[in-house]
This record gives sequence, C-alpha cells and structure tokens, in this order.
Amino acid sequence: MTIQTVGVLGCGLMGSGIAQVSAAAGYQTIVREVDDSLLEKGLGRLKKSLEDSVAKGRATAEVRDKTLANLSGTTKLEALADCDLILEAIVENLEAKQRTYAALEAIARNHTIFASNTSSLCITELAAATKRPDRFAGLHFFNPVPRMKLVEVIRALTTTDETYQMVFGFAASLDKEPITAPDRPGFIVNRLLVPYLLDAVRAYENGLGTLEDIDKGMTLGCGYPMGPFTLLDFVGLDTTYFIANIMFEEFREPAYAPPPLLKRMVLAGRLGRKSGHGFYKY
Ligand code: NAD
Repeated sequence: MTIQTVGVLGCGLMGSGIAQVSAAAGYQTIVREVDDSLLEKGLGRLKKSLEDSVAKGRATAEVRDKTLANLSGTTKLEALADCDLILEAIVENLEAKQRTYAALEAIARNHTIFASNTSSLCITELAAATKRPDRFAGLHFFNPVPRMKLVEVIRALTTTDETYQMVFGFAASLDKEPITAPDRPGFIVNRLLVPYLLDAVRAYENGLGTLEDIDKGMTLGCGYPMGPFTLLDFVGLDTTYFIANIMFEEFREPAYAPPPLLKRMVLAGRLGRKSGHGFYKY
C-alpha cells in the first residue's frame, strides 16, 4: 500500500498546518471541519500561512499554487472515505476523539491508517477504541506546523511494524524530521519541557527573581529562543495545566504536579496570549 490520499480531521490551529504540509508534499488532501464557517476560517488561516511563506521567500508561488491544487475542504465525513491515511487533529478530548473514530470506522476503507495528533492522550487507548488498533499510530506535530521540523511518531502497543514504518515515512516525506517517541504522557519533548516550565513557575513563586529576569536568564544564558514565562503564555496556561495533570496522574512524581500559582491563573482566566493576559499582558 502507498499513501496517496490524506484526510485531515479538524482545520484548527494544527489541522490547517497539517493539511498545508500534506498538500505541499503532493498528497491529495481533504480537510474536514464541523461546519462551513469553521471550514472557511481554517482554510483562510491556511491560505494566509501560504501567502506569508511566499512573501517571506520561504516558498515559491508555484509551491503555493500546487498546494492549493492538491487541497480540498469538506464538512462531510464521508468525503474521507477513500483516504489511505486519516490524521485526526480535533479538540483534545477523549470522548470527542472516540466518537469521531467510531464514525470514521463506518466509512473508512479497510487498509486506511488512522493517526492522532494528540498532545497528551494515550495512543494505545485511542487505538483500542477503533476496529483497527494495528493500523493506528500517533503523529505529533509542533506549532506552527509549516515552520517546525519535528514530528514525534508514537506506536500504540498494538501498532504493527508495517503501519509504523508507513507513518514514519509519511512524516519524513513532508520534509519533517520524525523521531520515535514512546506512548507515555508528554512523549519526548513535553516529558522534558513541561517539568522545566512547572519548575520555573515554582521558582518564581519562591522568589527566585522577576518574570523578566528569569526569562532573560534563560534566553541570554542558555540560548533558548524564549524564556519559560513567554513560552508558557504562548502555549497557553490552561493547556500546560491540562498536560501537567495528565502527566502527574500517570507518573505520580512531584516534578509533574502543577504548581498552585498555575492553577489559580487558569481559574482566573489568565490563560496567556489567547486571553490577553497570562504572566504578561498583551
Ligand atoms: P483547535 O481548537 O485550534 O482546532 C480543533 C478543530 O477541530 C476546531 O476547529 C474544531 O471545530 C474541529 N473539530 C472538532 N470536532 C471535529 C470533528 N469531529 N471533525 C472535524 N473537525 C472537528 O485545536 P488545535 O490546537 O489545532 O489542537 C488539535 C489537536 O492537536 C489536539 O489534539 C491537540 O492536543 C493537538 N496539538 C496541539 C498543539 C498546539 O500547539 N496547539 C500542538 C501539538 C498537538
């Protein structure tokens, strides 16, 4: 089997980026949203991203046109019936994902591989909810998808070697650098990043320094592109809190326990850039 047609579920922040890189790599790509206005919004984001790439010299007008020619949008799940690979990038909610996979099972072909872009849910649990746990894997992209080179490829306990090699090869064909990550909360990157971010919040609560000085310390002293509080505001404090709780549930280690300040900021609606107020104001 070769992958020729790719379905993407969800045209939000990640789905629109995944659809873009898939179409740019030459795959016939169909992206599905729940209604027309969300589809229009998502495709608008995708087109703007393509235009920005052309304006900044990262892509040619030819690549833009080829990408758009390979791409189509739909609100109908049945439109994904003939896809060889279906990548799910809908909301981070186990029940919503399980419901979607059940609906997909009714229309997808037997050989079709399902992959999830989940950041924190268990790939084996998602796979077990389908009738094809052997043809299921995790493909974890990074935001913004067209710019970030990494893809973590995760095998469920049930994923076959053939499926794994297929999705790993697919990720590489998108001009990405795939790495093999375990089906454990946080995979590789968040497993290391989240405790660092939580530690920064704890250290700040304990008076280590000002937000600005801690951020400056890590950018200028370590060469990180942004300090921990700028990054937390960028990722979203609610998202970080959600992932930390899942990691703590699994590992029961203090390093993953969300600090009291983080919880209170989320409760107060200070979610970072998206709410206009996090550790900094926007
Ligand atoms: P988002 O809220 O921007 O987009 C999700 C989209 O899915 C929404 O537009 C929603 O309308 C749509 N949707 C919901 N149910 C659907 C369905 N049944 N069919 C089709 N579309 C449906 O969220 P996002 O940030 O793009 O995250 C999507 C997934 O990617 C989540 O699992 C998240 O954990 C993961 N992820 C996010 C990031 C990130 O930085 N935001 C990074 C890596 C992975």
